[in-house]
Amino acid sequence: MARTALMTGITGQDGSYLAELLVQKKYRVVGLVRNSTASQSRNIAHLHNQIDFIFGNLNDSASIYTAIQKAQPDEIYNLASQSYPSHSWELSLETAEVNGLGAHRLFDVVRQLKPDCKIYQASSSEMYGDTNVFPQNESTPFNPINPYAAAKLYAHNIAKIYRKSYNMFISCGILFNHESPKRPPHFVCQKITYAAACLKLGIENSPLFNEYGEPLVKNNQLTLGNLDIKRDWGFAGDYVEAMWLMLQHKTPEDFVIGTGQMHSLREICEIAFSHVGLNWKNYIKSDPRFIRPTETNTTVADAAKAKQLLNWTPKVTFSELIKTMVDSHLIHLKSQVTHVQSVISE
Ligand code: NAP
Repeated sequence: MARTALMTGITGQDGSYLAELLVQKKYRVVGLVRNSTASQSRNIAHLHNQIDFIFGNLNDSASIYTAIQKAQPDEIYNLASQSYPSHSWELSLETAEVNGLGAHRLFDVVRQLKPDCKIYQASSSEMYGDTNVFPQNESTPFNPINPYAAAKLYAHNIAKIYRKSYNMFISCGILFNHESPKRPPHFVCQKITYAAACLKLGIENSPLFNEYGEPLVKNNQLTLGNLDIKRDWGFAGDYVEAMWLMLQHKTPEDFVIGTGQMHSLREICEIAFSHVGLNWKNYIKSDPRFIRPTETNTTVADAAKAKQLLNWTPKVTFSELIKTMVDSHLIHLKSQVTHVQSVISE
């Protein structure tokens, strides 16, 4: 009989790649979604005949209870989150509610209703925060420095407590940054690759706005914060495979997932803009408004445990990832321009 997976955050980047993977593996996939238009979400519209949806919200225990009772899942992937670390100062309580208590609510309902169900919890490399250990692995101490990371660490600790106290199968993936064309627009890789595509197409003021309500590309310029930030960036499609592998492993454990390679924002700018034949230095400027109050230190993954126990390694290179994101924006923007031109000529 087909196994059932219940996913929170199915409309997000990881949710959509994971849903594709699980459908391909013949799971019955059920998505817990916040609104009635979720099935039309750009990320999962192509799957909507192959997925069931249940309305619910991680802030609402009753809806989680109903979802688990209805779906009777064998596996749960908890991906839902207020996922912008940089917004988590303005949305600190919402972030704590969803990312911290939301996960706790979910674990507790599973404990009561379906304690044999396996759970994947989306932890984050942001939890390392102000670390001076390089690279980071499963034993590296956490030192969160933003509300997002603090809430994720709460969920991570509760996951471990439930695992030990109630003998539940909860595995946490400590995932380093991962990107794709499906990443929401205000993450920095998306901003840069989108700007490269706009400027290649001669779009001086973009239709997409930044968090300050200004065109992301304004008068041929993209404004960013600190360009010296370095991170370990991988491809989301590779990382969802690791999530699935964690729940197939014989014991529940925590795993670091990342590429082990560090790149700077400058390198992203270089790859994205040279891919479309432009020099990024002519189009990108840095503005203190875009710098976070505190910035997580340079982080880079030591994913040796995942390689050894799960046989997981990333497949897509950094350069391939950035170029794919630029290409995806080019296709999307060209189709928007064509659509506008056809409406004007009617
Ligand atoms: P994402 O694209 O921003 O997706 C977030 C998802 O959470 C969306 O489907 C959103 O639904 C849902 N959501 C938000 N609040 C909710 C609530 N109260 N109840 C139910 N659903 C809610 O995030 P992602 O990049 O796929 O990341 C997946 C998970 O991995 C997140 O937990 C994130 O924090 C974590 N993570 C991500 C990275 C990364 O680099 N991407 C790294 C480490 C950890 P709507 O469509 O309704 O908004």
